[in-house]
Amino acid sequence: MPLKGMCIELRPNLCSGHVLLQFEEPIRDKRKTRIVIKEDDVHIVENGVDGDSELVLRHDCFGMDIERISVFIVSGEYISFRFNYTHIDLDALQRAGVHVEIHPLKLSFEERSHVVALQCSKCYHEVVPGCKYNRLREFPSGFVDPSEFFCHNHGDTSTAKPPSLVPGPSDMYYGLNYVVLNMAVLHSRVIKCEGHIYCKRCMWLLGICILNDAAVKLWADALRLQPVATLPRQLFQQPTLTQLVLRMLKDFWPDAQHHFCTGNNRALLVATMPNRHQHYMLLEILEFKLRILRKVETTSSVAEAKLQQFYACKLYFRVFGSCQHDPSILAAWQEQITIPKLEMSPYSFLALQRRLTSNMELVPNAWRYNTAEEKLQLSYFFYETEEQELLRQQKEQEQQQQPKQGPEVKPKQQQLKEYETDTGVDASLDEEDESDDEHSDTDSETHNALHHKYAPIAAYEQQLVKRWPKQKQLKHMSNSPDGANL
Ligand SMILES: [Zn+2]
Ligand SMILES: [Zn+2]
Repeated sequence: MPLKGMCIELRPNLCSGHVLLQFEEPIRDKRKTRIVIKEDDVHIVENGVDGDSELVLRHDCFGMDIERISVFIVSGEYISFRFNYTHIDLDALQRAGVHVEIHPLKLSFEERSHVVALQCSKCYHEVVPGCKYNRLREFPSGFVDPSEFFCHNHGDTSTAKPPSLVPGPSDMYYGLNYVVLNMAVLHSRVIKCEGHIYCKRCMWLLGICILNDAAVKLWADALRLQPVATLPRQLFQQPTLTQLVLRMLKDFWPDAQHHFCTGNNRALLVATMPNRHQHYMLLEILEFKLRILRKVETTSSVAEAKLQQFYACKLYFRVFGSCQHDPSILAAWQEQITIPKLEMSPYSFLALQRRLTSNMELVPNAWRYNTAEEKLQLSYFFYETEEQELLRQQKEQEQQQQPKQGPEVKPKQQQLKEYETDTGVDASLDEEDESDDEHSDTDSETHNALHHKYAPIAAYEQQLVKRWPKQKQLKHMSNSPDGANL
């Protein structure tokens, strides 16, 4: 029976590891599945036939001498156990492993250097016209006192004007996965509805109004830079989910990066979905930087488990939507002022949710929940390199397009050049409780066609016509007093 998932927590200070194995089917008595230690290797053997055995852990890659396994648990489609060794070559492990450093938050362009225009990442409609920005400044996060943002305010406070966070017409402020611009620069290129900003052409959610509608916060993954030869298409350098998580954890707990944390280790993420539902993710961090062994896919035809070291964040999480019931746990978390809160883009939120949900499946049911009341679920976030994230994104995109368009075969070089952030989001954005005709087959085909740069204009027009009644309705709403400016 083939392995579906596998994760080994490695704790060199205890000379032990904890193996989580997930199989395709539940393990039943008649199959006689056994774990065998043979010459310091750990095998899974079925029905005692050697040909069926699958190698789980080979000792000689990292010089491990596994001598004992314990806490052996079989439940459902899971097997888990602990193993002990007396020796391991940590240097070899480290050399062959993946170690991702945090990359500081930096825009892809500099002050007064390039004319930068911003496009909707979905339909490439220009939403912010070209501008050579005079000031690029980091926007204060919720954890920083806004008065520290402007140095001139520290002087004579009696005559100084109160600090304004509203950027000027050629200023761009930025923060974790967003940019802040003056409302006036958007003109009539967007649709404003209940404090949210949508692309006027395709209704893609771009961001939110802030500072009494004087400014907009636009999500970096809802936008891209207008292609010019000297610039990448992404607003930020290294815009991967791994970097977002690393930066977020550092913002929440600046001093706790490498330590096992107890006590104040909870955080709350908020995102507004395109239908303006608020979704929340409760996070409880158990370990920021845990050594993990994962199975890596080898290109050779030999089906053998090759293990590689990664680092991971081990955590509990739970997602709530404002469209769902049972908000008592959520309310309890929201009331605690010591729990840091972060508003993030719906696209990153859903990508993180997908990643954590998929890794949660590695954990046997018995260990899945933190408490019976809160029911947060155990999961891991594996820190991956930019290239690994990119390949994963392309795989997800191909899986999404496969049923209708067939596999797209491209040379590898070309694959790595393309980089889109909106991949794989569409499917999850339409919620089950939303019933309209947007789920018809022709429409989703149009969606896929629009992913392609050279989408025929006919497909686009077809989409536009379909959305027109809704758009008109939104326009009408934005003419109401609380949605002025249009
Ligand atoms: Zn658009
Ligand atoms: Zn919802």
